[in-house]
Amino acid sequence: MAVGLAAEAQTTAAVSGKRAASLVIRNAIIVDGAGTPAQGPADIVITGNRIDRIVFLDPVAVAEGTARRPAADTEIDATGKYVLPGLINAHAHVQEERGGIPQPLDYTLKLWLASGITTIRDVGSDTQKTLALRGRSANGEVASPRVYVYAQFSNASVRSVETARQRVRELKTMGVDGIKLSGTDRDIMTAMGEEARKVGLRIAHHVGVEETTAWDDIRIGTTSIEHWYGVPDAALLDGVQGFPSSYNYNNEVDRFRYAGRLWREADPAKLLTVLDGMVSKNVAWVPTLDIYEASRDLQRAQTQPWFRDYLHPTLEEFFRPNPRNHGSYFLGWTSTDEAFWKENYRIWMSALREFGRRGGVIGVGDDAGFIYQLYGFGLVRELELHQEAGFNTIKVIQHATGNNARILGEESRLGRVKVGYLADLIVVNGNPLENLKVLYPTGVDQIIDGKEVHTGGVQWTIKDGIPYNAPALLADVKEIVRQARAAKSR
Ligand SMILES: [Zn+2]
Repeated sequence: MAVGLAAEAQTTAAVSGKRAASLVIRNAIIVDGAGTPAQGPADIVITGNRIDRIVFLDPVAVAEGTARRPAADTEIDATGKYVLPGLINAHAHVQEERGGIPQPLDYTLKLWLASGITTIRDVGSDTQKTLALRGRSANGEVASPRVYVYAQFSNASVRSVETARQRVRELKTMGVDGIKLSGTDRDIMTAMGEEARKVGLRIAHHVGVEETTAWDDIRIGTTSIEHWYGVPDAALLDGVQGFPSSYNYNNEVDRFRYAGRLWREADPAKLLTVLDGMVSKNVAWVPTLDIYEASRDLQRAQTQPWFRDYLHPTLEEFFRPNPRNHGSYFLGWTSTDEAFWKENYRIWMSALREFGRRGGVIGVGDDAGFIYQLYGFGLVRELELHQEAGFNTIKVIQHATGNNARILGEESRLGRVKVGYLADLIVVNGNPLENLKVLYPTGVDQIIDGKEVHTGGVQWTIKDGIPYNAPALLADVKEIVRQARAAKSR
């Protein structure tokens, strides 16, 4: 083992993209993924791809240079920085095109890593391609977060109870990690759930305003409810929202407009029984608050500052209101729509807070690539919205790390800064417990000693023991975007 009390001289600076035999992160303040307060300073020793030792330091001895420090082949100085478990994005889509136009995969992967995301749960993509990416990522052949593949499953692909069971077995044979369920009738969902339990596949359910509601998730023991619709839908006293007679679910403007008037119709008492039901059956909730934000504040969504340098032209085109693209429904969006959506968020957020208080597991995902949300940036925005919902930032970090690991079934090796755990860590310029915005790759402006200083951002994203210099990845992304724009204007 390379770790000992060897002379400092043998230690070299960490090299981006290269796993050393050992790496020490020095003088870090640690925020664990367990919902516990920050502690430090500490030296964290990584051997290979595991967290090997965490040595808490006496700050006085550190200042005097007399502290006994563990040695390693390479090091990262984290003085003044915070170290967290790598962020997990529990609602991601691996996308290599938008609206049929190719978009480089590297663009997405580097944005994720630059934002401190070391793991994604893919909930709908080209399954075979994403399984291949999972393998290349696991082998360290590509700069990418860890990938968990949840294959899409809906009425469109499965029409009978028999084919539902057969499809689950096929997906298991393909090697997926779970199933992303959406748009299914109750009989299909029940058969799918039974079979998935039998073969050991987890289930993420986008429960829309359909035949099924959160009650079905409680009944079959879904792993996580994605988004939210099925939760208030399960708490309607009359079982159906008060839609106007002209409403058509297949019309996206109708669907998003009246979704903004759904939470207000949920009966508060019935809602609590739904939340309790979810808690009792271990149904987690990944609300993806960020992906609906354009509905409550369209101008904010359309003018995010990072679009200037980091919005790929393919994505820019995809976000433009166009009835052909899913989620691009903002033609004729009104102040009345926004007012309803703001109220919708208030009730939604208080339900989420209540769910957490009752012991529910809340996860974090961003659903980026749709509705003005950019990969990585969307996840940080999601964290801010969890804070807005009333959660202490310590809990918010837990949602994105320890809780998400639990949703993946990986809580014994992911989502913590803990000896024996996989070395997925981020080194952050600043204190995210004070300001979650320091996690944005583009950083923050602060007044330090009376001077304006540009700081923040993740400095190092360490995935599976491989350190990545996050600002360098972000610079790569900027160049990808610059070239794509130049090629387009040619
Ligand atoms: Zn999604």
